[in-house]
Amino acid sequence: MDHQALAELLFPNVTDTPAQLEERFPLRNVPEGAVITRMAPSPTGFVHLGNLVQGLTSERMAHQSGGVLFLRVEDTDAKREVPGAVKVLIETLKHYGIQFDEGATIDGDNGLYGPYRQRQRADIYHVYAKQLVSQGMAYPCFCTEEELAAMREKQEAAKETTGYYGKYAMWRDRPMEDIQQALSANKPWVLRFRSTGNIANQFKFSDLVKGDLTITENDVDHVLLKSDGIPTYHFAHAVDDHLMRTTHVVRGDEWLPTLPFHIQLFKALGFKLPKYVHIGPLMKMDGTSKRKLSKRKDPELALTFYKAEGFPVSAVYEYIMTLLNSNYEDWRRANPTAPATDFKFSPKKLNPAGNLFDYAKLTDVSKNEIARMDAQQVYTELLSWAKEFDPEFAAELERDPAYTTAILAIGRGGKKPRKDLAVWKDAKDYMGFFYDQYLVAPTFDDKFSSETVATVLRKFLEKFDIADDSAVWFDKVKEITVEIGFTTDMKAYKADPDAFPGSVADVSNFIRQAVTGKTNSPDLYTVMQILGYDRTKARIQNVMNSL
Ligand code: GLU
Repeated sequence: MDHQALAELLFPNVTDTPAQLEERFPLRNVPEGAVITRMAPSPTGFVHLGNLVQGLTSERMAHQSGGVLFLRVEDTDAKREVPGAVKVLIETLKHYGIQFDEGATIDGDNGLYGPYRQRQRADIYHVYAKQLVSQGMAYPCFCTEEELAAMREKQEAAKETTGYYGKYAMWRDRPMEDIQQALSANKPWVLRFRSTGNIANQFKFSDLVKGDLTITENDVDHVLLKSDGIPTYHFAHAVDDHLMRTTHVVRGDEWLPTLPFHIQLFKALGFKLPKYVHIGPLMKMDGTSKRKLSKRKDPELALTFYKAEGFPVSAVYEYIMTLLNSNYEDWRRANPTAPATDFKFSPKKLNPAGNLFDYAKLTDVSKNEIARMDAQQVYTELLSWAKEFDPEFAAELERDPAYTTAILAIGRGGKKPRKDLAVWKDAKDYMGFFYDQYLVAPTFDDKFSSETVATVLRKFLEKFDIADDSAVWFDKVKEITVEIGFTTDMKAYKADPDAFPGSVADVSNFIRQAVTGKTNSPDLYTVMQILGYDRTKARIQNVMNSL
């Protein structure tokens, strides 16, 4: 077979050479040890936690080493493409702190190693396709769907491995005449790799996450170019990551089974193999067993879910970091205010088996994260969430920013900040009573007569002075307690509640419920200070009138 002639026949219009491409995309001028890596998502419009795990890993590896992170859009499967998906992807990742130095932008490209959308790179792939054909390492295959299906059936019946390999590789050694004939009959063809691998051979390979692996050689003549001339993932991966000068390929471990082929392909193309970082899946507990998070079953896989729930971006970020590097949590405890980027991230610490996603833990991390924020920051983040997901609440929050900020300042700062909020969605329930429109009428414990409640409220209003400090304020509550025959001795009360008609806690609760509508609230003295004299008094009077 004259391979050169076949190459000309298949790719008559390709005149560029690999050498020219090497020149066009020179080695990058980066410091020794700098990681060049990428995110290479398909534009399906669905951005999920797995993207974030992969994105944060590659972002940290690139930027921590003084390297480059770029975005390549893997749009070779036109059927799966959703309009606007690239925009959603870029914006979502940016929201989570992942910014690309280079690559596809919403409406174009930024960088010298593009185009960064694979469908715009057909010419480039064809240069290498032609090279492989001319070296006898690739050939056209004219098999129809029916022929492939029949082959598969035969293999299954004979209990053989399915696939296009060895004796089943029908077009592997066809004479030139057959190829010419098929071409002139305009039969569609794909370009296949001519594998020289043997499944009896194994070799060692080291992955940065998975560690040392034993790999079996690939013997399948995989497709390189589909019949429309667009490459498969495998071929595009080799060509793009070589020409874009990727040093580390960070990707999901669903690609491990085809890694033997990728290694083979890099070799055949004369490319230096990048380092691989294969990330394990995100799993969740389902009853007593673990399973992969699924797009269909688990709404919490989608990043939009976290936005709508109102997890602060920093909480999701912190949680993912704790998942990826087990020493992150200790580091954070020792460095509570340091930027997360000060942490020394290591891909080697990733769990090779993947991670168990724990919603309760995320919630916990989020509580801590919100507790660390100051009132102003909480105000800004809460308001921006509410504007999108609860505009009516947003309008309340915004009416008097100083009032809202004072509310949000309750219990903040100090050694043990309150942890009332895990997500912004919780905020209305927690603080809504401060706004008259969300105030609900209290229901008092029917152990106590309305008269008792009314007496407490009346006495409180008689003594209430907004200028009192908290000690004086509480002394007054205790006075009322004694006046109505309840006890202020909580120890004695707890030991024998039946010996008393009620306690100072009940008295406080009557007042609390009158003012907030609820049986629990942040510190009542502070609540009144924020509400102010008139509003507090009006609320108590209102309740008295309803008794
Ligand atoms: N487009 C591939 C995917 O979304 C990219 C894998 C890779 O990073 O190489 O799974």
